[in-house]
Amino acid sequence: MIKSLLIANRGEIACRIIRTARAMGIRTVAVYSDADAHALHVRQADAAVHIGPSPARESYLVGERIIATARQTGAEAIHPGYGFLSENAEFAAAVIDAGLIWVGPSPASITAMGLKDAAKALMAAAGVPVTPGYMGENQAPDFLAEQAGKIGYPVLIKAVAGGGGKGMRRVEHAADFADALASCQREATASFGNAHVLIEKYILTPRHIEVQVFGDTHGNIVHLFERDCSLQRRHQKVIEEAPAPGMDEATRASLCAAAVKAAKAVDYVGAGTIEFIADASEGLSADRIWFMEMNTRLQVEHPVTEEITGVDLVEWQLRVASGEVLPKRQEELAIDGWAMEARLYAEDPAKGFLPSIGHLELLKFGEGPGRRIDTGVFEGAEVSPFYDPMIAKVIAKGPTREAARARLAALLADSAVYPVRTNASFLVRALDHPAFLAGTVDTGLIARDGEAMAAPPVPGEAALTAAAARLVPATMAFGFRLNAAPVTSAKFLLDGEAIDVALSPTGATGPAASTFVTGAGQAWRLSPFRRQAAHGGSAATGAILAPMPGRIIAVEVAQGQRVTRGQKLLTLEAMKMEHTLTAPFDGVVAELAAGPGAQVQVEALLARIEAEEG
Ligand code: ADP
Repeated sequence: MIKSLLIANRGEIACRIIRTARAMGIRTVAVYSDADAHALHVRQADAAVHIGPSPARESYLVGERIIATARQTGAEAIHPGYGFLSENAEFAAAVIDAGLIWVGPSPASITAMGLKDAAKALMAAAGVPVTPGYMGENQAPDFLAEQAGKIGYPVLIKAVAGGGGKGMRRVEHAADFADALASCQREATASFGNAHVLIEKYILTPRHIEVQVFGDTHGNIVHLFERDCSLQRRHQKVIEEAPAPGMDEATRASLCAAAVKAAKAVDYVGAGTIEFIADASEGLSADRIWFMEMNTRLQVEHPVTEEITGVDLVEWQLRVASGEVLPKRQEELAIDGWAMEARLYAEDPAKGFLPSIGHLELLKFGEGPGRRIDTGVFEGAEVSPFYDPMIAKVIAKGPTREAARARLAALLADSAVYPVRTNASFLVRALDHPAFLAGTVDTGLIARDGEAMAAPPVPGEAALTAAAARLVPATMAFGFRLNAAPVTSAKFLLDGEAIDVALSPTGATGPAASTFVTGAGQAWRLSPFRRQAAHGGSAATGAILAPMPGRIIAVEVAQGQRVTRGQKLLTLEAMKMEHTLTAPFDGVVAELAAGPGAQVQVEALLARIEAEEG
């Protein structure tokens, strides 16, 4: 067995790998960039080595530096996680050439599955059903247009080197083909340095179903059943589950057999995923499910498979990389219960899913039975602009699909993050969508119905009243009781916006300076009303604070400039509205802390006005 392991990754997957390695008594070495100096994976590993500046291409993607670090620290093996160098055949080969153990498939398997056209051709030759289409060498636009016509519209143009949902164009009519092709090729060249495309039949009512496979170095290959990842936004997975709803035993058997056949065709070793696309217009049936591509690594969504099979896939990876036989035979594997995973992101659905970067002042996950949280951050950590802004994978297991779904929705609704915005309420609404309840989600659901899911959540009345009670002095609460006026209302600031909140005299514990209101997976800061704060400036201190998170779009003054009361200082754009911040009194701009374009958090200091002496 491997005794020491370097993890060439960051975030939740680095932490996930460390957890299993530690349980197996394997020493772990983390690598990190400037931005990750205080990251969770650095804290959790037995040793951590700085490998470069924050941009991934100067740190996590520098293969030689990672290999040199493994050598220096005496690590015997390298686990690439997912993303970064995980599907880079050259890096895998370099690791092996350096005399280290590569926790992954052979470079030849990675290469064979690396390009979508070659992979499809290989699968078709091995007798695996592939999506109907053209995947040949001829790239002449007229010829491709002719092929599209033969396949029948709508068609999907796919960059053969594409990934992550990029380099794909859906074309409805022959008249639009030439433009779509040119645009897809431009994107493919820019993103992947390869303009080659293939043309596929666009599957209507498509469902994304994938099969987890595992191979060892002794020629054994098993499958660990399927996952359904049909809930997608712009071809990227949002919620995944295992098993797939509506899957009967015969269809499952045929799909999983096709997956094992695909893995055998490339002598697969380690954890891999065969992705299929199903035409679910009439439910799931084996003759309408086709191979799409193979991912030659551990998937983001691997936990749902672990939850229903009881297998630790990272443990299997490490055993297989150490030369051991697969711990279980096919007939020893079975499905137990149902598991669902949601990707909780630091992003704002109400603002077009823009990343919401910053300090995690508050980070709470809901609690309940069947819960699993895979995360790479902690309360007090930063969500960095340099990497994928995922906060956590929130996973729920239950005896039935409905139990897992309800548990996951509750875990998300009870989570609270501040001040960064998350997609938690979006996820809860998606889980409550009638199609999700019925298990008939197709990949176009969010494009059709996502707008309602993306609306910003509002705090509930009861939560607001309870929070307000924490801010009200006890004497005030007593006063209500004496006056026999059990409920009244008062002004507060909710994330800097003035609102009226009903006050209940019971349970008052205040006064606190500010408190959080939570609900619908979000948190808001509630503080006592201050007129100046509502306008951004404090008459007492001259500090100009951001009344809400937003972006500075104009700075009207310079440091040292003399200003008069009410003079315009800065303009903040938040929630698609402009807020002008003005000077609270005559004075000079003693401090100017934010420039045009800066993204600021609520209550961030933007400027400070000082009264002039004498
Ligand atoms: P990537 O490598 O970028 O993830 P995939 O080939 O895996 O690209 O496709 C990503 C997603 O695009 C799939 O999960 C599915 O939702 C959609 N998709 C792919 N091929 C088709 C198709 N032929 N018809 C309809 N949707 C498709």
